[in-house]
Amino acid sequence: MNEFKFKKKYGQNFIKDENLINKIVDSAEISKDSLVIEIGPGMGALTTKILNKCKQAIIYEIDVELKDYLEYKLNKYNNYKLIFEDFLGANVKNKLKEFDYKELLIVANLPYYITTPIIKKIIEDEILADKIVIMIQKEVADRFSAKVNTKDYSSLTVFLNYYYDIKKLFNVSKNMFYPKPEVDSSVILMSKRKDKEFIKDINKFNEIVRDSFKYKRKNLRNNLQGYDLVKIDEILNKYNLSLTSRAENVPLHVFIEIANNI
Ligand code: SAM
Repeated sequence: MNEFKFKKKYGQNFIKDENLINKIVDSAEISKDSLVIEIGPGMGALTTKILNKCKQAIIYEIDVELKDYLEYKLNKYNNYKLIFEDFLGANVKNKLKEFDYKELLIVANLPYYITTPIIKKIIEDEILADKIVIMIQKEVADRFSAKVNTKDYSSLTVFLNYYYDIKKLFNVSKNMFYPKPEVDSSVILMSKRKDKEFIKDINKFNEIVRDSFKYKRKNLRNNLQGYDLVKIDEILNKYNLSLTSRAENVPLHVFIEIANNI
């Protein structure tokens, strides 16, 4: 497929290193019980290895110019559904109803320009995979796995860490791709938490976390005008925090306690 024109607008940086491909697929520990969702197969670098190991796969690719090549490359497999659609607009939950599976995995080298929207969609649409192994931009990986009291700790970090334990597995040099991107990457493993804290009202939790981080440089008193500040202060004080703290100082369990009590 020599004449293929790589599309920057679709974040097309394909992996060219066989060891890296194996390392990513092995990290997902795919088994014959697994239904795998792959987002953006490109020329199928990860796809054939995934199909060798999984029960079934649902594969979303936006670029229809890859259709002939992918169908040819995946010709010998019959355990996949290849869908040419923008993953962000796809009704994945509906699609999942067509499959019978014991565990759901997401494995992908994500298009970097929409990493955050994809992750948000997975959470908001409740496509709650048991495990997610994704290659993403290194800076974004740092944000997802950021610890409290660091500058990378954000509302998305808090949301993601409620649903998933997030671990950075390894960094990947930009030289491993064709065409070579401008940034380095990391592969992260997100494992669905089985011991999630109880949240009374998820919308209220989302709202308070979002508002707490509204203006990053402002403290909680400023960002949470309109909430019951007396009650919030009382809870914060139990953890050596106060209304003069910033959202980046507040651990997940404290946000949950606040949301459950106001
Ligand atoms: N998996 C291949 C690999 O590792 O070599 C390609 C990865 S490349 C970084 C990202 C892929 O996602 C491209 O094939 C691109 O066309 C596809 N893509 C981009 N935006 C998409 C979207 N909104 N929905 C589905 N696929 C998308």
